Amino acid sequence: MLTYWINKYTTYLLPNHCDLCGLAIDKPYPHPLFCHSCLKNFAVQPRCLCCGLIMPEQVEQCGSCLISSPAWSRLYCVGDYQAPLSGYVHRLKYLGQFWHAKTLALLLAPHIRVKPDLITFVPLHWRRFLYRGYNQSQHLAWELSKHMDVACNGLFCKVRATARQRGMVKKQRVHNVRQAFELGQAIDTDTDHVAIVDDVLTTGSTVEPLCQLLYQNGVKTIDIYCVCRTSEPADNLSDANLI
Ligand SMILES: [Zn+2]
Ligand SMILES: [Zn+2]
Repeated sequence: MLTYWINKYTTYLLPNHCDLCGLAIDKPYPHPLFCHSCLKNFAVQPRCLCCGLIMPEQVEQCGSCLISSPAWSRLYCVGDYQAPLSGYVHRLKYLGQFWHAKTLALLLAPHIRVKPDLITFVPLHWRRFLYRGYNQSQHLAWELSKHMDVACNGLFCKVRATARQRGMVKKQRVHNVRQAFELGQAIDTDTDHVAIVDDVLTTGSTVEPLCQLLYQNGVKTIDIYCVCRTSEPADNLSDANLI
């Protein structure tokens, strides 16, 4: 417990040493927790700007997106689900270290070129929320909202608990989340462009029904902000909150 509180209150109070290599961070600080050299671990890789998957070079839309467009316009991510990035996501999501939402949001925010009108996030079912004590995507959304100076609002409710996504193929995942989400509040008529925050995006089956709810309520453009984008449904991954 003591370690928990020391971690929570010193991570951002004493940020002068790199969290990865332990060396002093030279001013101007490129990031509160990482030195210039270690930041290269989070360097931008060429991706499809639409689905977010890695490509030999950056493209507006890859072949898959041209054949079948995702439900959203742009996907912004920090990287694949690989160390050291995956370690911070794990700490945020499973070890109660919600303050790493700031660590990750500050890595993601510089990639985002066009501000939305509103930032929202993937909701947790109330039982999962009680178990974890917080929604990691909500914390990410709050941090991005502060950094980007864009309003943040929890638009969605998860009205049905769903099975673990682990090991499911896309079709099973789509079925699993069917009618699991509802819009919890009305959307202002002048809100045309919304960004949905998720921690890890694998197949997109979680955010697709959320996109449909937004389109049905007048939203015209949707972006996805996630920390990790992976095409591999690894054993230790789920499509974020679907547990
Ligand atoms: Zn370092
Ligand atoms: Zn694509």
